[in-house]
Amino acid sequence: MPIFFSNTTSNFRTALHFSLESRHTQGLANCPAIGIEELVYDTHCEDVYEEEIDQRNITFGPRINDANDVKGQRCCIAYEECLVHLARLAVGHRCELADCSARIDISCKTVGTAMLIDWVCENGHKPSSISRWRSQPLVNGMRLGDLTVAANTLYSGNNFRKIQFFFKCINAGCISESSFLRIQRLYAVPSVNEMYSAMQNSALEKFHGHSVIVMGDGRNDSPGHSAMYCTYTVVECESLTILAVVVVDKRHVGKRSTNMEKEALVRAMSIVREAGIKVVEVVTDAHSQIAKYIRTQHPSVKHSFDVWHGAKNLCKKLNKASTPAKCSHLRPWIRDIVDHFWYCCQHCDGSLIKLQGLWKGVLHHVRGVHEWYVGDGGPGCCLHEEMPDNQPTGNKEWMTTDSPAFVAMRKVVLDPYLIRTLPHYINFRWE
Ligand SMILES: [Zn+2]
Ligand SMILES: [Zn+2]
Repeated sequence: MPIFFSNTTSNFRTALHFSLESRHTQGLANCPAIGIEELVYDTHCEDVYEEEIDQRNITFGPRINDANDVKGQRCCIAYEECLVHLARLAVGHRCELADCSARIDISCKTVGTAMLIDWVCENGHKPSSISRWRSQPLVNGMRLGDLTVAANTLYSGNNFRKIQFFFKCINAGCISESSFLRIQRLYAVPSVNEMYSAMQNSALEKFHGHSVIVMGDGRNDSPGHSAMYCTYTVVECESLTILAVVVVDKRHVGKRSTNMEKEALVRAMSIVREAGIKVVEVVTDAHSQIAKYIRTQHPSVKHSFDVWHGAKNLCKKLNKASTPAKCSHLRPWIRDIVDHFWYCCQHCDGSLIKLQGLWKGVLHHVRGVHEWYVGDGGPGCCLHEEMPDNQPTGNKEWMTTDSPAFVAMRKVVLDPYLIRTLPHYINFRWE
C-alpha cells in the first residue's frame, strides 16, 4: 500500500496547517491517535509547572492571534545560564527604587516547553513595569512551543511517549500527556481531517467519469480476531491514488470482526461510485464474504484476488501438508510450487483454461514428466526449457505417484476451493 505522507525531501517541514479555532471532532477522530508503541516509555509527568496565565491581560511577551503568524517563527534550544545572563543585562543588579537598591534575584523555571524568568529585589520589590519574561509567545492562550511540539509529534509520525522521553533526556521541559491529548484533539486532528478531506475530494474529482480498476485491503488495529477497528483502503490500481479510506467499528457490525472487512469495502465502494467513478474490477484478498458481495451486488464488476495473498495461503497449506515425517519430500518443493502458482497467474493471458492447465501441470512436473495428454484445452507441457538429463535442481528429488508426499501435495494443488477460485487470479493482480 502506498504511504500517505512522504517526508523524503531534504528540506522537509511539516505544514503548520493548524487553525487557531479549536474544533471538537466526532466519532473515531475523537480517539487519541496513539499506537501500541506509546507504552514503550512509561514516564509520567504531571502539569505541576503549569503557568498561571494572567487573566488581567498583563503580557510577559508577544501574543499571536493569526495562525499565519505562526508560520516561519524560528525556535532554538536555549540554556538557563544564557537566559539568566541575558536577563541580568536587561534588569541590572540593583533595585531601581531610590531608597532600596537591594540586589535583584533572578529565577528561572520551566513551564511546558517554555522557560519563565522572574525577578524581584531582596526586599521584595518588583519593578512596576514588568517582572516576568516568557521564552515563547502565546497563541490563543497557549505557549507556541507547546502547541508546536504537540502538533508536530503527530504530524511527524512520532509518538508522544518517545518525544516526552527525549525531552527528559536533554533535561528540557515538555508538555504533559493531558496537554498533548488536548491539543491533538482540538487543533491537530481537525486540521489533518480537513486537509485529508480536501486531498480525497481532489483525488475523487480526478477520476470522475473514468472506468478504473481498484485494489482494496483492510488492516485491523490488532492482529487476530479480537480487533476493534478495521481500516480499509481502496486505491486506484495504476496511479495508486487513494480513493477511499473507511474505518469500521466492530460494534457496528454485530461485534464480529470478520464482518468488518466486507462492511468497510461496501462503504468504500459507495464512496467511489457516488463520486461518479465506474469500477470495472476490484482486487482484494481471497475473502469469502467480499467475493459473495461482489458476485451478488456488483455482478458486472470483475473480482480479482490478490496473487500475493493467494501465494501466501498456498505456501501455508503446503507447509502444513509437508509437516508429517512421511511427507518431508514435499518440503524442498514448496518454494518452486508457490513460484509456479505465481508464474501460472502471470502467463495465463487472462484464460482460465490455460491457468488451470498450467497449474495442474505441476503434478506432472514434480514426477519428472514434462509432457502429458490433455483433455481440457490447456497446454500439454511444462513451459520451462528442456531438461536434457531430466534431473530436478537443488536438493529436490522427483516424487513418485503413490508417495505420501505426492498425495499430500496433490490434495493441496487440486483443493476444490483453490480450483473454484482460480478465475479470480487470471488477471494477475497483486498489491
Ligand atoms: Zn527593592
Ligand atoms: Zn516440467
